[in-house]
Amino acid sequence: MDLLDKVTSLAKRRGIIYPNSEIYGGIAGFYDYGPVGVEMKNNLKRYWWKEMVDRRENVVGIDGTIITHPKVWEASGHVESFGDEVMECKKCHQRYRVDEIKDICPNCGNKEFTEPRMYNLLFETEVGVIENTKIRAYLRGEACQNIYLDFKNVVDSTRQVIPFGIAQIGKAFRNEITPQRLTYRSREFEQWDMQFFVHADEMPKWFEYWKTERMNFYENLYNKKENLRFRQHPKNQLVFYAKDAYDIEYNAPWGWAENEGIHWRGDYDLTQHSKYSGKDLSYTDPASGERYIPSIVETSGGVDRTLLMILFDGYEEEDLGEGNKRTLLRIHKDIAAYKAAIFPLVSNKPELVKKAREIFDSLSQKEKVVWDSRGNIGKRYRYQDEIGTPYCITVDYDSLEDDTVTVRERDSMKQERVKIEELKQYIS
Ligand code: ATP
Repeated sequence: MDLLDKVTSLAKRRGIIYPNSEIYGGIAGFYDYGPVGVEMKNNLKRYWWKEMVDRRENVVGIDGTIITHPKVWEASGHVESFGDEVMECKKCHQRYRVDEIKDICPNCGNKEFTEPRMYNLLFETEVGVIENTKIRAYLRGEACQNIYLDFKNVVDSTRQVIPFGIAQIGKAFRNEITPQRLTYRSREFEQWDMQFFVHADEMPKWFEYWKTERMNFYENLYNKKENLRFRQHPKNQLVFYAKDAYDIEYNAPWGWAENEGIHWRGDYDLTQHSKYSGKDLSYTDPASGERYIPSIVETSGGVDRTLLMILFDGYEEEDLGEGNKRTLLRIHKDIAAYKAAIFPLVSNKPELVKKAREIFDSLSQKEKVVWDSRGNIGKRYRYQDEIGTPYCITVDYDSLEDDTVTVRERDSMKQERVKIEELKQYIS
């Protein structure tokens, strides 16, 4: 089994990621997060928000809608050309992205294909209820457009002056031709975006700044820093308005894979929306009075992709000797679903359960913790290791005497006696 299969299996088995609509045979490119996965994903989003918004005086957040005015996607160019070139196998009619196949159909071995044609990735829907007045709309193909749409509102309603950024986390939808590799390429996914608005003269400085900041972010998140790298887009592959672009890539089980893009977008987006909406989106510098359309540094990454990479990065099988093995997720403690698991040594001794319950109630006021009183302690440790819980706290008979508990740490498996009153500090 390769790492992708192992992670897929663990994710399903332990409530991290499930295939959507599985009882109906599933639907390609859609996934649900289970009880453990949703906690991890929420932690990851909080971690990003803290890093990108909370700790910065010059970045503010928004939360935009999935459906916008359809003209947005004309202005952005998505209606005209947001897609991939697709070829269809003439025998089995399976469709592939042109860059995915050599000369032979991976499905049936046939060598004949239709000519490549463009395939639009936007999901369409209709807004309105009365037959003739319905308008065609799109589920957003990228979340960042809301940021351009709200740029003027943010300038007018906050104390921000350029240079400043607007951040957002939200869903995006792409009718990907070949969704694959668990959540890596899915059809409904979540993006974290930040658009930083600057004067054109300041672009080089801010572009470098955000490249460094974003790489630091991923370096802090993953254990294996050697699995991270920048990939600069070759000049001939840049979209016409972009001056420079880098991907931050992670070395996934199938090779280097995009995690986030850092893009030099210039003034293209606001210019386009000014043109299509007829509204002036220029900015007037309050100090100099200079009026201009701001340029943009974009950092745009995938929440689901990052979580998947975290699982690859943290997955380990450790040989404990004498035929014993353990699987663990050595993941960042702020991302783990639970900070700690709380166990009464046995479940049929009411004093132990009561004491453990008191600890659970107290810790859960500040941290996400989880309760387990099933099976023996060894099995409980195995389970918590597999979902990456950093600490396991066991309440035993001594706890009743001296108000201490055994805390076992995930990575080292070291056990320590800790005073109950010090637990809060210990696990945070
Ligand atoms: P790719 O080349 O892999 O299709 P992209 O360059 O089209 O990605 P962007 O449009 O730059 O991606 O989107 C920003 C981020 O959104 C990506 O870095 C990725 O993390 C995430 N993303 C894009 N498409 C998907 C998808 N189909 N499933 C999951 N995440 C995605």
